[in-house]
Amino acid sequence: MPKSAFAGGVHPPGMKEMSAGRPIERAPVPERLTVPMSQHLGAPCVPLVQAGERVRRGQVVGAVDALVSAPVHSPVDGEVVEVGECLTAAGSRVTCVTIAPDGGQDFDRWVPVEGDDVPSTVRAAGIVGLGGAAFPSAVKLVPPKEHPVSTVILNGCECEPYLTCDHRLMVESPERIVRGGVLIAEAVGARRVVVGIESNKPDAIDAMRRAADGTQVEVLPLPTKYPQGAEKQLIWSVLRKEVPHGKLPAAAGALVHNVGTAAAIADAVDSRKPLVERVVTVTGRVARPGNYLVLIGTPVSDLIALAGGFSGEVERVVAGGPMTGPALGTLDVPVTKGMSGIVVLGPGDAPKPVDGDQPCIRCGRCSEACPMFLQPFAIGTYANVRMWDRAEQYHALDCIECGACSYACPTYRPLVQLIRIAKGALMAKGVRP
Ligand code: SF4
Ligand code: SF4
Repeated sequence: MPKSAFAGGVHPPGMKEMSAGRPIERAPVPERLTVPMSQHLGAPCVPLVQAGERVRRGQVVGAVDALVSAPVHSPVDGEVVEVGECLTAAGSRVTCVTIAPDGGQDFDRWVPVEGDDVPSTVRAAGIVGLGGAAFPSAVKLVPPKEHPVSTVILNGCECEPYLTCDHRLMVESPERIVRGGVLIAEAVGARRVVVGIESNKPDAIDAMRRAADGTQVEVLPLPTKYPQGAEKQLIWSVLRKEVPHGKLPAAAGALVHNVGTAAAIADAVDSRKPLVERVVTVTGRVARPGNYLVLIGTPVSDLIALAGGFSGEVERVVAGGPMTGPALGTLDVPVTKGMSGIVVLGPGDAPKPVDGDQPCIRCGRCSEACPMFLQPFAIGTYANVRMWDRAEQYHALDCIECGACSYACPTYRPLVQLIRIAKGALMAKGVRP
């Protein structure tokens, strides 16, 4: 039986049936790959190659000597055709290396990554959180000494509607995930490894249990509720412990990695493979929704074409899940390490936020939905009139930007967008959680 759920949260329609049964297919090599130097949280990489240079699959093409960063590798054998600016799904312009691939590609071969231990190998492989956060994984493998980690939690919740890439990975490659969990536990000295999976994925739970048999890894079904996969909510659901205000999960003795990240860590340590590709769900209003193994740098427009193109009226294309992912202004942006899905939405598929002046009817549904026990209507109201100090008093910086409040609001107030603006203004003033 699944454990009881965390407080708050919402139950948006899952919309996963379109792609959940679709096995992972390798996407074709595109004509050009545009590989951004910044696809992670932290310092952007500096390009190490120039136009005209030949590169090999797995060769480092960008790196920087900063603790919080992750090197970037060429996903193919080919030739660098340009080093310049490009637009990313997040809407920012960053330095990119554009590569023209050779005619034939051997996907089973790459320049091997080096490393003496798990953290250094994970860093060399450029692994970041594949659940969407894109935080450099190696940094999390060296927890603060004052907070030893006793439990590694692998996040297999995939609570965002529409997305099924983690689901398929758990069904098709559970051994790699289990192996990654064991390696992470060894690296941080943890005794327990728990894979948390929402109970709406029984085939993934079965596959993971079979693969975990005889290891230290436990599989724990969890209630299906959004945002079950948010770090603090997941830790509470698994350990019944709260992460103290302003602290890291290690303060609760926990370390959380996404299941896709765990599989990538196993590949890096056992096969010396850098992070050059990932599974992406392409779904919603497309002719053939599915899950694809995609080379980093592949244009999103290629993925839409691979899924048979748009079907029906299209209102928005979202990178990631519809609760937290940004709407794309153009399909001419590359797949990055943190991009879990491309979701095509039509009229009525998701509520459209209207403007901040939409009336609040004081119904309290946003507060009931908030898994962080905040009062989103108050923070949103103060953000709308730029009263940042009042927004701070209502703990705007504790918001995890899950979007549950916006989803719950009957008048479609753009609460999470307003709170995000308040958080940005407070951080710019030097205020920290
Ligand atoms: S206030 Fe933040 S944490 Fe609370 S529901 Fe809204 S987006 Fe989620
Ligand atoms: S859910 Fe919307 S209308 Fe209801 S209290 Fe919150 S902001 Fe106001």
